[in-house]
This record gives sequence, C-alpha cells and structure tokens, in this order.
Amino acid sequence: MTPHSAPALPVASRLRGFGSSIFAEMTELAVRTGAINLGQGFPDTDGPAALLAAARAAIDAGHNQYPPANGVAELREAVAADREIRYGTSYDPGGEVLITTGATCAIAAAFLALCDAGDEVIAFDPCYDSYSASISMAGGLLRPVPLRAEGDRFAFDPDELAAAITPRTRLLLLNTPHNPTGKVFTRAELEVIAACCHEHDLIAITDEVHEHLVYDGRTAQSLAALPGMRDRTLAISGAGKTFSVTGWKVGWACGPRRLIRAVQTAHQFLTFNSGTPFQVALAAALHDHGSWTTRLRQSLQEQRDLLADGLRRAGFAVYQAEGTYFLQADVRPWGYDDGVALCRDLPERAGVVAIPSVVFYQGADPPRNLVRFAFCKRTTVLTRAVRALQAAAG
Ligand SMILES: *Cc1c(COP(=O)(O)O)cnc(C)c1O
Repeated sequence: MTPHSAPALPVASRLRGFGSSIFAEMTELAVRTGAINLGQGFPDTDGPAALLAAARAAIDAGHNQYPPANGVAELREAVAADREIRYGTSYDPGGEVLITTGATCAIAAAFLALCDAGDEVIAFDPCYDSYSASISMAGGLLRPVPLRAEGDRFAFDPDELAAAITPRTRLLLLNTPHNPTGKVFTRAELEVIAACCHEHDLIAITDEVHEHLVYDGRTAQSLAALPGMRDRTLAISGAGKTFSVTGWKVGWACGPRRLIRAVQTAHQFLTFNSGTPFQVALAAALHDHGSWTTRLRQSLQEQRDLLADGLRRAGFAVYQAEGTYFLQADVRPWGYDDGVALCRDLPERAGVVAIPSVVFYQGADPPRNLVRFAFCKRTTVLTRAVRALQAAAG
C-alpha cells in the first residue's frame, strides 16, 4: 500500500496523499507478529542520567510555565556557544537562535514563513517524510534531485542539481547526515551546493539532527560554515537524536536575524514553543556533551557494524552508513525486486521489520529494491535480528 491508495479522507487538498503511512502499517505488523522493529528510528536505551535528572529537577524547581516565545535563554546561549565551538559560526542568542518544538516544527515553520504559493524547494531525494507534507501545507512545491547509488554510497550529479533550479526556486533543503541513506555530504559536495545557492540567490535550510552521529572518524560539517553561507542559511538541529530523547521534542534553528524573525512569526502560532523543563535541562547538557556524544558515536558505530555485517552474511547488499541511525540494503539477492513486498513478508519470514525506502522518494521512477534498517537498538536486539535473518536466508 502506498500513501496514495488510501480511501479519500475529508481533508484539504494540501494534505491529500499524506493520509496513512507505511510506518503505521509496519508498526502494526511488528506488534501483531512480535517481530523486532528495525523500522522506526528511535533508540531503545535512555539518554544521559544527569540530563534526565536535570529535567525532573527543573519540574521540581517550578520551571513549568510558558517559556519565552523564542525559547529559554540559557538554551539559546548553549546552542550558540556549541555551534561556535564546533563549526566556527557565531549567532546572537538574542535574535539569531530560535528554540522549536523539535526539528520537525522548525522545518514546518520555515516553509510556512518563507514559501509563497508556487515557490519551489530543492531537496535531495529520497528524503525525510515530513518535508513533502510541510512544503505542501505551505503551498510550495518540492523539486527532488536524486541521490544515486555509486559503489556503496550515494551521490548527486551537480548537473541534475543545476537543472532542477527554475525561476520559482526559492529554497534549498539539505539534510546531512542524511536520512534514509546514511550519507554524510562531503566538503566538496557542500561546496557545489553552496555555489548553487550563491548563483541562484537561494536560502538554504539545513536539517542537521544527526550532526553528532557520524562514523569512521568523520566530523559533521555545517553548510552555514562555508564562505558566505551563514547569512543565507537556516541551520536546524535538535536534542532528540543527540541525547537519545526523541520524545522530548526540543529543536532549534540558527540563522541571520531576518530569517529567524520570519520563522518565529510562524512558529509562535503553531506551538508557541516547546516544554520549559526540558529546555532548562538541555541547556546544561549542551554546554558539556563531549564525553556523551563521543560514547554515543562509538556505540552506534559498533551497532552499525553488527547490523551491516549480519545483513551481508544474510545475503543482502548493504550500503555504507557514514552517519545517522540508518542503513539501506538492496533486497534483490533475496529474490525480490520490490522492497515493499519484502517488508510485508519479513516479519513472518524472519521476525524483523524494516521500511521500504520507496516511501521516502518524491521523484518519478524511484528505485524499488532498497529497504531501510535502523541500527539504534541494543546489541542484544540486533544480534537476535541478524541471527533470525541469516536463518531465514539459509
Ligand atoms: C528524526 C529526524 C527529525 C525529527 O526531529 P525532531 O526533533 O524529533 O522533530 C528531523 N529530520 C530528520 C532527518 C530526522 O531523522
């Protein structure tokens, strides 16, 4: 079932086609069959104990009323300080940092604030599932630029990027590290994207929620740190992936004052802002996250290796996950051309749930042979999953 085959719902045209998702179907399948859910990307271990304690303490200390419209000041200061240290980009916590209800709401508010009806947004394809819905709700149009498999990683063709630009193009959305491919855009790729933004006077929106989850000695890079890009980039990130607290829904956007003011105009009327005690707790954690993020990166890299090796031994062709919680595999060695068919069979056949990557594509003629597995699960869980897959394969 694709989202488009759902029966007509009484919804406005800007939401048509977004009614039901494969995530719901696969989660239901996982629950019904008792399968291990490697579909949805949330960790099955808790964030830092000191952070969890700080949130409880913030509630006890009475931080329970509305925060300022742009978020708790200490968290804005911590976000600015952290980005200055890691990327060398400096932002005034007074007017250039906005706390949001997760990165998702920052992205939605950005489109609502910056897209006029018919404006076009460039995004690399496949992409995170909220983008197309948010752009549609804002009245914009998503122009996909394909990421194609090249060896065991994904890459784009600069000519295809250039060809996607039209006189209506206003925004370019870049997600790196990239969900669902696990790709981390290289410095050379960022330079091509930055040149394109300069040439066509585009605003860049970057989704960097996986910025700390990069492997094999890589360091994340922010497009905003490239020459001339700070003043045309809205850099979005958040706490969920960095501190394994995806249910807290605290995100942020950093950028030049005029962009932040525009996004805040939309965001204040969507959710106003995110939960005060979580923001208070995160401010302290962000000031001193080094040992936590280093350990998180190390353990996720081990989990990635465990799953990737296990999938290879089970016969799948596996693409390199350079970052994120996710890796993609080619299902054709299992005798399937269609990842949707494999994902429907996999819970019964092997007791494992994955997501067919076709649901993340916006362009015409997407590859159908890829599925996405999440590896942000305990090693005991991943070990059980790969054993079951190998048994089902053999
Ligand atoms: C998980 C994820 C998000 C969601 O972030 P929230 O802070 O939970 O809203 C956004 N973008 C990408 C690419 C993600 O993987």
